[in-house]
Amino acid sequence: MTQLALVIDLNVCVGCHACVTSCKQWNTSGSAGHLSDLQPYGENPLGVFFNRVQTYEVGQFPHTQTVHFPKSCLHCEEPPCVPVCPTGASYKRKVDGIVLVDSDKCIGCKYCSWACPYGAREYDEDRGLMTKCTLCVDRIYDETIPQAQRRPACVNACPTNARLFGDVHDPESEVSRAIRERGGYALMPELGTRPANHYLPRRLPQGSAPADARAQTAQQPPPQAAPARHAAMETLRAPQAEAVEMESRSLFARLFGAVFDTRRPAPAGGE
Ligand code: SF4
Ligand code: SF4
Repeated sequence: MTQLALVIDLNVCVGCHACVTSCKQWNTSGSAGHLSDLQPYGENPLGVFFNRVQTYEVGQFPHTQTVHFPKSCLHCEEPPCVPVCPTGASYKRKVDGIVLVDSDKCIGCKYCSWACPYGAREYDEDRGLMTKCTLCVDRIYDETIPQAQRRPACVNACPTNARLFGDVHDPESEVSRAIRERGGYALMPELGTRPANHYLPRRLPQGSAPADARAQTAQQPPPQAAPARHAAMETLRAPQAEAVEMESRSLFARLFGAVFDTRRPAPAGGE
């Protein structure tokens, strides 16, 4: 089965937000209709962004680095957001593995966002609907668009080619080769969600990774079989605040454990 996905290279993401704005533009003008922007110029700007770039400072002073971390729906192969949906609005396509929300069936109950351990769902306050990254499903199959541009808008817009797109089940695809040859990893594999999206780890000069980060990477448990349904129900039972706290704690730990990957030698002279 085909499983389309993004592979994001943390070495070359410069945090310019071109992917964020191109995503917003395409998905606001596309078939899904506008995406809400609440108080865009107010004190507490809120809105719907399928793709967000989070920026962290990592390491110990003075050996710190800025890491830009783009995040959107990971199109999990065992998506806990799907079985919890009471109306069947959330579903995973068999043909290409994209996880979507049917806006005609969604009642805006937010169960799916509680179940998603990555905080990838985006609730549209204006329409009272759950939304999320679609991998630009309304673009990648559009035969009126030149073949070379039939990729998600974020991939086309990235000025540093930090975003790759393709079938992670095809061992000869560009994304599979990048994962295989450059140490690509999935977020929080211990949850059994099997994210399709992967990240290429950030390289640091040898010996500069903090000891605790290296230890975290070494201690990371191997992927488990597929307790997705169980994990989803457990998450569903927890209060939302606890789910949010878990998401931020786990994501920080896993991110920092994974971005300090020192398995590959740094280029001469460091980065
Ligand atoms: Fe996307 Fe979250 Fe569902 Fe995974 S669990 S498919 S990241 S919305
Ligand atoms: Fe399904 Fe999520 Fe919509 Fe609720 S909010 S109906 S769980 S897609």
